[in-house]
Amino acid sequence: MQHIKNQSLVSFMVSNKEQAIQVTNPATGEVLGYAPISSEQAILDGIEQANVAQKAWAALPAKSRASMLNRWYQLLIENKEDLGRLMTLEQGKPLAEAQGEVLYGASFIEWFAEEAKRTYGETIPAPSGDKRLVTIKQPVGVACAITPWNFPIAMITRKAAPALAAGCSFIVKPAELTPLSAFAVAELAYQAGIPRQVLQVVLGESAPLVGGIFTSHPLIRKLSFTGSTQVGSVLMQQSAHDIKRTSMELGGNAPFIVFEDADIDAAVVGAMASKFRNAGQTCVCANRFYVHSKVYDEFVTKFDAAVQQLKVGNGLEEGVNIGPVISAAAKQNIQSLIDRAIEQGAQPVSELQRLDGLFMQPVVLKGVTHDMDIVSQEIFGPVAPVIAFNDDEQLIEMANDTIYGLASYFYSQNIHRVWKIAEALEYGMVGINEGMISTEVAPFGGVKQSGIGREGAKQGIDEYLDVKYLCFGGN
Ligand code: ADP
Repeated sequence: MQHIKNQSLVSFMVSNKEQAIQVTNPATGEVLGYAPISSEQAILDGIEQANVAQKAWAALPAKSRASMLNRWYQLLIENKEDLGRLMTLEQGKPLAEAQGEVLYGASFIEWFAEEAKRTYGETIPAPSGDKRLVTIKQPVGVACAITPWNFPIAMITRKAAPALAAGCSFIVKPAELTPLSAFAVAELAYQAGIPRQVLQVVLGESAPLVGGIFTSHPLIRKLSFTGSTQVGSVLMQQSAHDIKRTSMELGGNAPFIVFEDADIDAAVVGAMASKFRNAGQTCVCANRFYVHSKVYDEFVTKFDAAVQQLKVGNGLEEGVNIGPVISAAAKQNIQSLIDRAIEQGAQPVSELQRLDGLFMQPVVLKGVTHDMDIVSQEIFGPVAPVIAFNDDEQLIEMANDTIYGLASYFYSQNIHRVWKIAEALEYGMVGINEGMISTEVAPFGGVKQSGIGREGAKQGIDEYLDVKYLCFGGN
């Protein structure tokens, strides 16, 4: 790890390949290092320790927890360069995006450091004169999380920060493909004074094994998961046995709609931001574009011209916009969706090149129809299928015709249409004349099979708090 200046960030790495996960660079295939695996017993011991430590953590004044979280936030900012480089090395995203994610990830810590001090209860007017009714909020206890590889830092901090702010202890299993960033941010938390028992990063022999422990252990009171709908469903079923609280951030199939009254140039800027960030590997990425037939040709031409400017390559290189996709399996899946769409009648707007390794040429597909497989499936890659529509009613039916309900986007300059469409879209989040919607201050989350619960915003901390009602009688 000669690329990393602050070697304390990678001090967790092990040389014993037997009890470790090998981490590779998706851009080059080179082995970056080994992340430690905990035995089943060590994970169980860690949960016991987290339970003991949680009591003392929760007993601290909120202001003390907040100041440690603030220090952790500062350390992420100070180590932005190293953390960004580590992320690019293990995940592939361009360095500027990786450093952007460090700031985005840090923003949740800053936000929830503030929210720690505002977990207000309430007083309730009582139904009779002899009673006084009050609610207080208390931490759920030991919370755990399972996180994905596409945002190796932000998906952890937006769960860990509210949990710690609320007074929970927190154990996370990061994705096996990107554990280095997870251990590195935890190292900074320890340097900020957060006890090792209160924040733990664990990898086990397998993801299902850790998932099984998290969902069955009586001391764990809450599971927060970000990943596929399929795995989320399994984890919810496992959690059902002990009635554990869950938060789920699952798959998406975001429509990106361009009405005939849209500012087309602005729509192209929004489309680029929403579709091609992280090589198309985000759950809020536009998955399918619906463009009114009156502006279809103009949009497709301008969109493709912008896409042709994207530079594909190793994310550490200057000027690269699109890094590799995460794995050979992911590439094959994306490629087969493209091939199938072309078989079904779609056409690439510009010539489609097949690239080596895990790199993929970004592509705009025209002549796509709503019934094609690429429209109903989550692409998770740099592919933009564009469908023509003529009528608002039919458009809303198509946009809502999915099991998912995470993000959606539309461009229109007509205020009446804007309200009507915003209300009709069955999604947790709607970008209106905007392609970048994620921020720590607003509630992120989905409806339908995209999940349960909200992250960030004032709502995010409630996922880690129980409401307790106190009834004072005899007054
Ligand atoms: P993705 O498509 O983003 O890889 P997954 O849902 O497969 O989505 O993975 C997200 C996270 O869930 C990762 O940390 C992965 O290790 C974990 N995971 C995958 N399968 C299981 C499982 N059966 N039980 C618990 N965790 C799992």
